[in-house]
Amino acid sequence: MKLILLGAPGAGKGTQATRLAEHYSIPHISTGDIFRANLKAETPLGLKAKEYMDKGLLVPDELTVDLVMDRIAQEDCVNGYILDGFPRTLNQAAALDEKVAIDAAVDVEVPDEDIVKRMAGRRVCPNCGEPYHTEWKVPKKEGICDRCGAELIIRKDDEPETVLKRLTVYHDQTQPLIDHYGKQDKLVAVDGTLSVEEVTNAIIAKLEA
Ligand code: AMP
Repeated sequence: MKLILLGAPGAGKGTQATRLAEHYSIPHISTGDIFRANLKAETPLGLKAKEYMDKGLLVPDELTVDLVMDRIAQEDCVNGYILDGFPRTLNQAAALDEKVAIDAAVDVEVPDEDIVKRMAGRRVCPNCGEPYHTEWKVPKKEGICDRCGAELIIRKDDEPETVLKRLTVYHDQTQPLIDHYGKQDKLVAVDGTLSVEEVTNAIIAKLEA
C-alpha cells in the first residue's frame, strides 16, 4: 500500500500516518520529521531547511524530492509506505508520479478556523519529540514532558503568524494536489474534524471499500 496524506498543516496527518503505518505495517515517512531531525543534527540540509521552515515557507523542491526518492528506494519500503507531508507542490507530485504509482491520496479535511485553534495549543518536547496540546493532550505536569522531563516548547513554525503563513502556502501550493489526485481517481477525502479514532476508521473503510 502506497499512500499519500494530504491536508493542511495541523489537520492531523502525522497522527493518522502513525496509526495507518501501524495498521498496514509499512513505514511512515514524514518530510517535516526528516527536516527536523537534520536540523537537530545541524546537517547542511537541516540548516538550509530551517531558513524556510521558520518562515512557514516550503523547502525548495530540489532539496526535497531527491530526499524522498532515496527514502522510498530503501528496503523497508518494498511493501509500501505512507508519505506524510509529501508531495506538497505539483512539481513534487509530478516527480513522484514519474517513479511510482501510489494507491491513494487521503485528504484529511479540516476548516481553517479549526486549524488555527489546534495549532495555537500545540507544544512539543524539544528533547524526545513527544507532541502535546494544551487542550487535548495535556502533560501530567504543566509544561513538562511526561516521557523525559524536558521543558515543552512551541515549535517556531507553530507560532501564530507562521501558522497563518503556512495556511496561505498550503492553499496556494498544496491544495491544487487535491485536483491532481482527483483526476487520477485516487483521492480519498475524510472529515478531519472527527475524533482521531473515527478519522482512522473512516480512512481504512474508504481504502478497503
Ligand atoms: P510538517 O511537519 O509536515 O508540517 O513540515 C514542517 C515544515 O517542513 C514545512 O512547513 C516546510 O517548511 C517543510 N516541509 C515539509 N515537507 C515539505 C515538502 N514536501 N516540501 C517542502 N517543504 C516541506
